[in-house]
Amino acid sequence: MSVWDDVVGQERVVNVFRAAAEAARVAVAARGRGGSGAAESVGAGDGSAMTHAWLVTGPPGSGRSVAARAFAAALQCTGEVPGCGECKACRDVLSGAHPDVVRMATEKLLITMDEVKTLIGEAQRRPWTGSWRVILVEDADRMAERTTNVLLKSIEEPPPQTVWILCTPSADDVLPTIRSRCRLVTLRVPPADAVAELLVRRDGAEPELATRAARASQSHIGLARHLATDPGAWERRRRLLLAPISLRSVGDAVLAAADLVDAAETEAAEATAERDAAEKAALLRALGLEDGGRVPPSLRAQVRQLEEDQKRRARRARTDVLDRAMIDLLSFYRDVLAVQLGSDVEQVNIDLSDVVARVAASTGPRQSLARIGAIEECRTRLRSNAAPLLAVEALMVRLRPQA
Ligand SMILES: [Zn+2]
Repeated sequence: MSVWDDVVGQERVVNVFRAAAEAARVAVAARGRGGSGAAESVGAGDGSAMTHAWLVTGPPGSGRSVAARAFAAALQCTGEVPGCGECKACRDVLSGAHPDVVRMATEKLLITMDEVKTLIGEAQRRPWTGSWRVILVEDADRMAERTTNVLLKSIEEPPPQTVWILCTPSADDVLPTIRSRCRLVTLRVPPADAVAELLVRRDGAEPELATRAARASQSHIGLARHLATDPGAWERRRRLLLAPISLRSVGDAVLAAADLVDAAETEAAEATAERDAAEKAALLRALGLEDGGRVPPSLRAQVRQLEEDQKRRARRARTDVLDRAMIDLLSFYRDVLAVQLGSDVEQVNIDLSDVVARVAASTGPRQSLARIGAIEECRTRLRSNAAPLLAVEALMVRLRPQA
């Protein structure tokens, strides 16, 4: 085994990180011999495979943070080959227990200035036990511009033994000034087979179920696992995909839209409720207040601020859930279109292939294209903060089977 085992379908990225970890070892050895120090030997522009600042990008679900953590482990590894996955350092990094890998992952909308200052402080320390001080920011896109500027200097001239690893969905999610100081590593959408294999090996999923889940999630690793481990998730997905087919009237379409938006709200609320309560309790404790007690006027602004943040997050969660539903619907009509055109691309919804075949036979490619267009349009409207119910109603009306 090695730390790269769970970095699925990313051979090119793994090779880059492997080479970097090996070059980093050479630099550490030189440092030990009283050489010129790591700063000079691993500079960004000198052609070395190792550098001090990394930007790891890749589409959601492609495994950015898993790849970044594997790289951090390889840097700290004391085994024969960097990233052996068996030495204490490798295991500690992967379990989150290594004192020299500082990981910042947030559920919050924004990483605060205080949090970034803490990280910069951590970056200034020398390693306790490891070879490097690794600062890993998993949601670097959640930084306000002002906050990012504070980070800039530390990324530009880190102490010689410090490595920054920033993760974002795309390189455009950070300021150009940050981007230009980092070496860019881009993950691809992993092949469905590789995702399925991971679900079998790591999560103990049945191979047939794992393949179905990997395809249905379109290789989004987190969603694939969700589908492979939660039968309720399949049922929700199935209901969603079958809903438009059974619509008989505009009235039906309006009801179906309400169902879909309700379900998204419930799912988003379930995902956020527990965290909201914990955050509020923590804030009240920090302010020296009791949960459920009266908040004195002087402290109300802080409590209100938190509640506002939580409301924003709930909206974002609902938008995410609805967007996911749109992607699922898109996949269904793309499957339909593929059958109509006799294309041999892999189907996403293999569990619904009979329904796909039926719809494909009863409509034409022109209709499928119109439906795909309608879904894309609805996605755009949802992202631009249109009233979700209106956008989804308009969509359902257009997806309705035409007599
Ligand atoms: Zn190791």
